[in-house]
Amino acid sequence: MLNEQEIAEFEALKKRYEKPQSILLPVLWKLQEKNGWIDDAAMEEAARFAECTKAHVLGVVSFYTMFHEKPMGRFHVQVCTNVSCMLRGGEEIFQSVKQTLGCGNHERTADGIFSLEEVECMGACGGAPMIAIGDDFYEGVTKEEVLQNLANIKSGNQPVKSKELKQLPDIDSEVTSPKIVLPNIPNYNNIDIYVANGGYNEAIRKAFSMTPEAVTNEVKQSGLRGRGGAAFPTGLKWTFMPKGTDKKKFLLINGDESEPGSFKDRQIFEFNPHQMIEGILIAAYAMQVNHAYVYIRGEYAHWVKLVQKAVDDAYARGFIGEKMKETFKPTGEGVPYSVDITVHKGAGAYIVGEESALMNSLEGQRGYPRVKPPFPANFGLWGYPTTINNVETIANVPAIIKIGWEAYSKIGEPKHPGTLLLGVSGHVNRPGIYEVPSGTLLTDMIYKYAQGVPNNKKIKMVIPGGSSMPPLRGDSLDGVKMDAESLKVAGSSIGTGGIMVMDEDTDIPKVLERISKFYHHESCGQCTPCREGTGWLEKILKRVNAGEASKADIALLEDVAKNIEGRTICALGEAAAWPVKFTVQRFPEEFAKKVKDTREHLTPNKVHSLRVGGLEPVEIHIPLVERK
Ligand code: SF4
Repeated sequence: MLNEQEIAEFEALKKRYEKPQSILLPVLWKLQEKNGWIDDAAMEEAARFAECTKAHVLGVVSFYTMFHEKPMGRFHVQVCTNVSCMLRGGEEIFQSVKQTLGCGNHERTADGIFSLEEVECMGACGGAPMIAIGDDFYEGVTKEEVLQNLANIKSGNQPVKSKELKQLPDIDSEVTSPKIVLPNIPNYNNIDIYVANGGYNEAIRKAFSMTPEAVTNEVKQSGLRGRGGAAFPTGLKWTFMPKGTDKKKFLLINGDESEPGSFKDRQIFEFNPHQMIEGILIAAYAMQVNHAYVYIRGEYAHWVKLVQKAVDDAYARGFIGEKMKETFKPTGEGVPYSVDITVHKGAGAYIVGEESALMNSLEGQRGYPRVKPPFPANFGLWGYPTTINNVETIANVPAIIKIGWEAYSKIGEPKHPGTLLLGVSGHVNRPGIYEVPSGTLLTDMIYKYAQGVPNNKKIKMVIPGGSSMPPLRGDSLDGVKMDAESLKVAGSSIGTGGIMVMDEDTDIPKVLERISKFYHHESCGQCTPCREGTGWLEKILKRVNAGEASKADIALLEDVAKNIEGRTICALGEAAAWPVKFTVQRFPEEFAKKVKDTREHLTPNKVHSLRVGGLEPVEIHIPLVERK
């Protein structure tokens, strides 16, 4: 139960949202932290506090994977087996942990010390294979290290700390790429260092001396495109917000990046949170927004704290909130302006990364995508005009204002300018996040930055933009550039810039089964083609990998994918369908190896066992009909 001080804190927090129900996730987090799980009494308390029904709370708790509806162990062990971890031994680790603990998935050990969960991507693909114990990530682990850590905990010792997350150094002196989002400045996440390097000064003062329209125009002319997947022009998006109205407006920063293969937001949260904050202040001014929310995925509990600290530090220095009016007293055409920023922690749901689901989640609801129109710029958070921007996108804004749109637009490819934070994971020697100009060769990302494939193996497949993007064959990578337009021509998409590399020994249908399992797991279930279709894709791929599929099953896979695509409320439909459709098309030999041709010639007077589509086999008898 909440104590007096906690109640007072939550009452204060409640005022930062338009409706009390938005407090639901923060309150549930606190109750789970205190109790270990969300029991009946906790739900009642949360319902009272969020001014909603207990049924609503139950609906929310059961939607998010990180809320526990039954007691967990004191140490909750989560093992990621999604693609990047799978490629580096994640499944083997999960099986070993399961065996060692003697408990199944979603169960706890008899002594109550541990509970175990096989989890979907936790946004640490560059550190694969990874596990989490409680909120702490352990990355680049071996099976032996994991088991040793569990033994340490059991005998009352502390687990050995994870290797620290590193901001990658500028590895090559020949790499002349400007570092816009992750500059190589030590301790740049410290507000004093950030300020000493011109932070909360040059860009924001320049922006505040311009009209909001001029700031928007600057971003529009720079050519900045969203880094969250759709690569939509950012300045244009800002112009969709209504002008000349007294109506409240909101800015929502999408830090719920959960696409397997993507792990870049975390670098910004850890190494450059103040540039993101400064970007938020400038964007809010440009759209005349007075309150912005930074929604961060629940798995990033550690990084939520880092961002909260950065926000608190900026408040304390008068860079956020009412004091801004004094701190940044404008010269020129600007008028004093203030923006508040609230950090909000998610609770585990891939689909919440979809912008309308993100808004529902922040409103304290299940993270269901909304039917559009209306679009967020007209009817967003609590029904008010809202713009949703990605973390990396917004972190680019101060640089654009500082160096001017012309200089920015000359970095990288003209149609998708700027630098990109590209993550490389899977079968590479040096996985990680690299900031490079857009248009950098995909082969450079793999061989120069990520330093090639272990044991110099050949590459069989690369997914260039996160698991939902069409894969490319390893023999078709020459000349492919990493930017939205070039990847379109190459037959894929930039997505979130998460490059997953698979070597010549990779079992492609197995990888596809893991991808399909993920989208099936993450479907919110609102649309029949997605809810049912994703299940069918996984089921058929299981059959393929078990050696029980026929050629008809491969055709069925394509058929199911085709019937999901374009028939759903949100893009998860395409995210599930595309990998299947394109992997089957581009790697036919991989599937041919695994299927049996079970076609039989139908002969009269014989009983045939036939399988139609994905249905169970049926026995039919063809009678012999005498010709007259
Ligand atoms: Fe939900 Fe899937 Fe429909 Fe998106 S496409 S709304 S995830 S059921």
